[in-house]
Amino acid sequence: MQIFTAEHAGFCEGVERAYKIALDQTKTGHPVYMLGNLVHNTQVIDKFNKAGIKTAKTVSEIASGPEGIILISAHGVPPQVYQEAKDKGLGTIDTTCAWVKKAQKVAESFANENRLVVIVGDNGHTEVKGLIGWSKGKGVVVENPDGLKKIDIHADTRVGVLAQTTQSETHFKKIVAAIRKLAKDVKEYDTICGATSKRQEAAMDLARKVELVLVIGDKKSANTKRLTELCNNIGTETHQIQTVKELDPAWLEGKEKIGITAGASTPDWVIREVIEQLEH
Ligand code: SF4
Repeated sequence: MQIFTAEHAGFCEGVERAYKIALDQTKTGHPVYMLGNLVHNTQVIDKFNKAGIKTAKTVSEIASGPEGIILISAHGVPPQVYQEAKDKGLGTIDTTCAWVKKAQKVAESFANENRLVVIVGDNGHTEVKGLIGWSKGKGVVVENPDGLKKIDIHADTRVGVLAQTTQSETHFKKIVAAIRKLAKDVKEYDTICGATSKRQEAAMDLARKVELVLVIGDKKSANTKRLTELCNNIGTETHQIQTVKELDPAWLEGKEKIGITAGASTPDWVIREVIEQLEH
C-alpha cells in the first residue's frame, strides 16, 4: 500500500498563530478564557483546557476585573465583543486571522455603502456570526443558491457579496452569478483565504490519483467538511475522520493508493497517528 499526503494539509498559518499565542498566554499567570472554541478541533481544545485555558460562551459569563484575559478566536468576533470586554475591565488578546479581518473590513465597508451584505457561508459558524456583526444590521447569510429565495433582493437592491474565508471558489461564484440575475448593482469581493484555496486544490489533486481519501479533521470544522465534499465530488471514495480511532480497516480492503489530507485546524500529531496506523 502506498500512502500519499496532500501537498497542503493541517494547521494553516492563522490557526498556528492562534495556537501559539494561546499557549503563551497560559505562562502569564493571568486567568485566560476563550470564547467558545478558539480553534475547531476537539484535541486542540483538550490541550488548551489542560494548560488551564477556560471556556466561556459569552463575555457576561466571565468575572469582571483587570486580571482576566479573553482570547479572541482565529475566526473573529462581532465588534461589540471588544466593547463588552472593555466595559468589564477584561483584557483581550486578538488571534483573529488576517484573512478573517480582511473579510470583516469588506463587510463593514459594504454596510457603509448602504448595501445589503450577503455572506456566502455556513449559518451559525463562529466566523459568519462575527461577519454579521461587522455588517451593522445589513448582513444576511446564504448557504446555497436556493437560500436566495428567502431574501428580498429585487432589481434596485444594492448588494455587496463576500465569502466566509473557507468557502469553495466555485460555490461562491455560483451564488454571485445567481445574485447578478436578481439585482443590477452588485459588488463582489472574494474573501476566501489563500490557505483554504491551496488545501482545496491539493485535496482535489490527491483525490485524482488515489483510490481512497481520508480527510482528517473535526466534524465542527467548516474547511474540513468542504475538503470532504470536494474529494467526494471528484468521485473518489472519501471518509472524514476526527482521529485514528475512527479509521475503519474495511475501507482499506483492496486499495493500493491511500490519500491523506487534513483541515486547517487539525494538528500534526493527529495526522501522524493516522499515518502510523496505516503503515502499521
Ligand atoms: Fe486564516 Fe484561512 Fe486559516 Fe481560517 S483557514 S485561520 S482564514 S488562514
